[in-house]
Amino acid sequence: MNNAALQALTESIACDYFNRSFEHRAYFNRYLRTTGGRYLLESHDIEVNPKQYEKFGEEALVDIIKHELCHYFLHLDKKGYQHRDKDFKILSKHVDAPRFCAPLESYESRANYVYQCTKCATEYLRIRRVNTLRLRCGKCGGKLMDVIDNK
Ligand SMILES: [Zn+2]
Ligand SMILES: [Zn+2]
Repeated sequence: MNNAALQALTESIACDYFNRSFEHRAYFNRYLRTTGGRYLLESHDIEVNPKQYEKFGEEALVDIIKHELCHYFLHLDKKGYQHRDKDFKILSKHVDAPRFCAPLESYESRANYVYQCTKCATEYLRIRRVNTLRLRCGKCGGKLMDVIDNK
């Protein structure tokens, strides 16, 4: 996934979950370490940690983007846009977004399923079961196999 695809995904999530349009930029920043993403108050842009996508796939990206869009829309509306604010709690619950910018570890501990590419052996962690007939390896396009149930 490149920045253009991330931008398109962010715009569609804004439309689908928030019923609004995202008018700024969303892009990957590989220097993010502790968070899956962040919202920049000055530029209104959203940065996403590419490692989240590489490790956990689109499902994790959607969670991150929803979370950052909560910051984004509340900030633009001059409402409580911080984690502790009531507006934030209500909106994140409404769109089913995690309340915190999930760090790698927390997603990892929530993942119940492990899949491995049969060609390049890359591992994928998922919270929900996936259809291995449909989902392919993000790196090489190989078939995925069910490795083990984590929990
Ligand atoms: Zn946040
Ligand atoms: Zn592969």
